[in-house]
Amino acid sequence: MFKKPLPDFTIQDTYPVCINYIDDASIKQHMVDMQDHIYSQSEKYLELIHQSKLEELDIPTIFKIPRDENGKIIKTHKNNWFVKLYKYYFSKNEQRYVDANQFYNRIKLDGVANCNSKRCCYCNNHKIEVVDHFLPESKYNFLAVNPINLVPSCEECNDNKHAYSPDDLNPVLVHPYFDNIDHINWLEVRLNERVEDISEKKYIYSFEYFVKDLDECPISIERIIKTFEELKINNNINFDAQNFFNTELIYDLIDPEELGDLSNEDLALHFSKKSKRLISQGYGINHWKVALYEMLSNYSDFNYFKENPS
Ligand SMILES: [Zn+2]
Repeated sequence: MFKKPLPDFTIQDTYPVCINYIDDASIKQHMVDMQDHIYSQSEKYLELIHQSKLEELDIPTIFKIPRDENGKIIKTHKNNWFVKLYKYYFSKNEQRYVDANQFYNRIKLDGVANCNSKRCCYCNNHKIEVVDHFLPESKYNFLAVNPINLVPSCEECNDNKHAYSPDDLNPVLVHPYFDNIDHINWLEVRLNERVEDISEKKYIYSFEYFVKDLDECPISIERIIKTFEELKINNNINFDAQNFFNTELIYDLIDPEELGDLSNEDLALHFSKKSKRLISQGYGINHWKVALYEMLSNYSDFNYFKENPS
């Protein structure tokens, strides 16, 4: 959803390092034999993502893992080792696996350095905590340690996305390395309702974030909407937005030493400036706080927010 720099290393760097850790000679040989297939799937991935057709990426039978009579995959099968490469070495924070694990850490670090958003590639809100498989490794085992499919995200988005995979009915999510929509203002927020907090004798305001209707967009808007919905981004950012509004901003609007004495025109101007300042600080035009300030800068009467329940 938010553009991140593509790692400067490839599957040709990560795969040999990972399989080198395998002790069992026959499994290791199997992984060596599969190397060219792994690389060729990576080429296909790149071709398809550039055409926005990643859902057409096939899973060659050579990578399939047979199932037992109960329909469960046979965990001892050699093809199960593709995901084990990720679990045992690539994501393992242990000194003896440092040659593989450094790639994992570089993906997380690159998500912070040299890019507009220093935060999760999906929500642009939480800090980067994990590496997410853009296409799930449970289905696309051959992508388990491929950097083009490994993106820096927060735990919440990683959990919400789970094993999402595109098909004929479900579009490919917005890819943080290959889709750039940072310059398009697609995020908007509206005031949802206010409810009375009886014990505190005040109103609690709630909001709803959504993907705007866009006239022009470099990718299909369905992909943005699907990413927003699948990862429950409204829940994610709304929690922080409502907390900020109800515990901070609403008090500033009343406090004469803060914003309380400003006219409606000056308040609208104040929020417009706040929004522009955040953008200049690198939050991006699609950060929840920018959208919130933007919404407020369009209000003509702020007295609604200064009311108390009678
Ligand atoms: Zn996130």
